[in-house]
Amino acid sequence: MTVHFPFQNSYSALPDSFFARVAPTPVAAPRLIKLNRPLAVQLGLDPDVLESPEGAAILAGKTVPDGADPIAMAYAGHQFGQFVPQLGDGRAILLGEVIDRDGVRRDIQLKGSGPTPFSRRGDGRAALGPVLREYIVSEAMFALGIPTTRSLAAVVTGEHVIRETALPGAVLTRIAASHIRVGTFQFFAVRRDTEAIRALADHVIARHYPELREAERPYHALLAAVVARQAELVARWLLVGFIHGVMNTDNSSISGETIDYGPCAFMDAYNPAQVFSSIDEMGRYAYANQPRIALWNLTRLAECLLPLFSDEQEKAVAEAQDILGAFSDQFSAAYQAGLRRKVGLFTERDGDEALIQDLLDAMAKNQADFTLTFRKLSDAAGDDGADVRAQFMEPAAFDEWAGRWRARIALEPQTAAERQSAMHAVNPMFIPRNHRVEAVIQAAVHDDDYAPFEELVQVLAKPFEDQPEFAAYADPPLPDQRVLRTFCGT
Ligand code: AMP
Ligand code: MG
Repeated sequence: MTVHFPFQNSYSALPDSFFARVAPTPVAAPRLIKLNRPLAVQLGLDPDVLESPEGAAILAGKTVPDGADPIAMAYAGHQFGQFVPQLGDGRAILLGEVIDRDGVRRDIQLKGSGPTPFSRRGDGRAALGPVLREYIVSEAMFALGIPTTRSLAAVVTGEHVIRETALPGAVLTRIAASHIRVGTFQFFAVRRDTEAIRALADHVIARHYPELREAERPYHALLAAVVARQAELVARWLLVGFIHGVMNTDNSSISGETIDYGPCAFMDAYNPAQVFSSIDEMGRYAYANQPRIALWNLTRLAECLLPLFSDEQEKAVAEAQDILGAFSDQFSAAYQAGLRRKVGLFTERDGDEALIQDLLDAMAKNQADFTLTFRKLSDAAGDDGADVRAQFMEPAAFDEWAGRWRARIALEPQTAAERQSAMHAVNPMFIPRNHRVEAVIQAAVHDDDYAPFEELVQVLAKPFEDQPEFAAYADPPLPDQRVLRTFCGT
């Protein structure tokens, strides 16, 4: 079978300083373990061909398809607040871009496909565990309706990667609106290459924000648009209990997608200070810190754009500050509107914010499961018998709040059934719980058993449906199943 990728590459046409041309390094014995068939179709690719040995060889980086122009992208970034002037794709290679069925340009990138000029001391490889984790969580985010990179395929390489122990190697095929990051701008800003910043900004506008081409001040409008998308994105994360874990500027996408799933996790019990990542000792990227960090990252982006704003530094800074100033209100508006939907409010009244905050406070105090509390509350909107109170250590804490909630929803004309279905559509039953993800990884890595992975992916594809046969996937971990730490796994 011949594999045809209808590549239409644009990034590799940018100046040479933007990337390094490099092909994937072939691997010993690639085996396709998962192809995302609906996504393949969406991308205009033939899933049957991708599943053939020739397709698997491409998804493993063993052969380069016709029309590909493989590159490793250059970028810099602040990692935990420390600036690193050169990072770049150290273990990822962009094969090229295709235009999907909706007319959207999408990157096809291999992650774990071998060393590049940006690898520094890394081996350019990925271990199977983190590849499965990224596959599961990114696809779960998509099903939850949250902007994200996608996973097209996972391949085991037949080689081992050496981490603390020898682990099976794997390659993930990642799909993104683009892989341009805040750190991509920083790469050129630190080199004072204003022409490159302009070329990058023009590329980004054409690709992600075409409506801004007509704007009076397109670069200002670009910053404002990225600010708005990040504010919306982080609000969405908080509303499902997602913790990215490594919100470095190199992991902050200009298109507004969630990118780079490392030690990310969904929290079980609601705790605003929750951190899972083993490398986040200071809690910089804790759940509730994420909006603040997003703004910090956007401020780094703004600094890069200053030379495009004005030759007068002071004027440029004032303009940037003005644009960044919109973040807090945009975030709060998206977050509060999302919370109102989560508790089933159709209208906005004085006191709503405090009412909802009181629920969150009671949840935090009572270690209530974030996902199940809202799901059971959705049930309770249509049925007095639904057991929300069992989520609370002291169930009376919920009873007191529930009385106020019932009085508040009684002020709205919607029926109980209308409210319940609206709430079910925003409060998922299923999230990728850490202990489930961990169990799937263990089965794959130690027993070469992918059945648990397949089943978890299937359940998470319909997070808002009850799926009674899979009810156990909604359960929080038992005390001995609790995952306390997650790892980058690089
Ligand atoms: P990450 O923590 O995955 O966002 O990666 C941060 C930086 O380290 C990026 O420049 C990556 O390309 C690079 N990197 C991570 N893992 C590896 C690896 N195994 N080999 C080479 N570079 C890597
Ligand atoms: Mg990264």
